[in-house]
Amino acid sequence: MASSGEKHTVKKYKGFGTASIHCGMEFDPHTGAVMTPISLSTTFAQKSPGVKYPAEYEYSRSGNPTRDAMEENLAGLENADAAISFASGLAATAGIIHCLEPNSHVIVTDDVYGGTQRFFRRIATQYGHTFSFVDFTKEGALEEAFQENTRLVWAESPTNPTLKICDIAAVSEIAHRHGALCCVDNTFMTPYYQQPLVLGADIVMHSATKYLNGHSDVVMGIVATSNPDMIEKLRFNQNAVGAVPSPFDCYMMMRGLKTLHLRMRAHGANAGVIAKLLESHDKVDRVVYPGLESHPQHEIAKKQCHGFGGMVTFFIKGGLDGAKAFLENLKVFTLAESLGGVESLAEHPVIMTHASVPAEHRAVLGIDDSLIRLSVGTEDIEDLVQDISNALDAVQL
Ligand SMILES: *Cc1c(COP(=O)(O)O)cnc(C)c1O
Repeated sequence: MASSGEKHTVKKYKGFGTASIHCGMEFDPHTGAVMTPISLSTTFAQKSPGVKYPAEYEYSRSGNPTRDAMEENLAGLENADAAISFASGLAATAGIIHCLEPNSHVIVTDDVYGGTQRFFRRIATQYGHTFSFVDFTKEGALEEAFQENTRLVWAESPTNPTLKICDIAAVSEIAHRHGALCCVDNTFMTPYYQQPLVLGADIVMHSATKYLNGHSDVVMGIVATSNPDMIEKLRFNQNAVGAVPSPFDCYMMMRGLKTLHLRMRAHGANAGVIAKLLESHDKVDRVVYPGLESHPQHEIAKKQCHGFGGMVTFFIKGGLDGAKAFLENLKVFTLAESLGGVESLAEHPVIMTHASVPAEHRAVLGIDDSLIRLSVGTEDIEDLVQDISNALDAVQL
């Protein structure tokens, strides 16, 4: 597994860690401040009407120095020509859909993030777009779903919470052959473990709320792309719709990004240990983790990722009672929604994050009462192992 980041592709620097610390981070020429200041000013002085100072700022929705520095950093990490930020992951998703011509058809991974599905089904369809939800791991299924007006293929890999993985290079190639763009929601892996643009995708979307920020204290979305037409449209959308993140949140995001490589290594190492522990435990039915040989797409994960991430899903014995006993007895892991922070979290998708997904649909996706999702944090592994073991001991079969 990459430790120094040599295997990653990054602009300007040899290593991913150097890029995460230095991309977009130039010291302030006026004061010498090494850290990018939080530029709270909403407006910027002009020399004469329309004649701006060299940095070209005028109004903070249209452009902000703190936001620019953060976007440059993220563009570097995703190996993109540009990154455009939004007030949340869903606002970023909306921004991408706004770029489509009216009445476009979009093919989507069937177990896409619930909020993405809700936006597609209940908002985007009102503007004439249509969506087909397809299992990308099923041979030939994607190919069959194309229509005359298919403009976008929306992949999420791994998916949430079942951690299904699709072959991003293959999906991108199929999309391109049909004249469509391929967008990948890269929230779970982050560019440290997976770089969709390098694999052939056109657009990367992130809920930066999760691993990119990494400290569970900012809500933000990012779109990264090198497609000139998309860059222009997304920039226009960012300003014209106005769902922009605040300068303070951009500052917090940059602070988080500087340790992305360190955090992801720790998340990955801890998750690998927890996945193996669960797999060998007699209170556990089945574990899903891309790094396990038992994962159905383990070979694809090995080929397209630099590591396997921090999310672990497992099916506990004893059904709902077993799941409740386990979750109530955790002490280091917190029972909470969301993911990607340095602190370990556990949750029950049927009752918590996926309650809005209809029961029949959950059944198709394999999300049942015994499924537990872990966001393995960066604590010391001894404490996490003990916590999981103790909580499993509390399960009565
Ligand atoms: C959380 C999440 C989103 C939505 O992002 P917000 O920042 O909550 O708007 C989209 N995709 C995935 C995979 C997520 O986990």
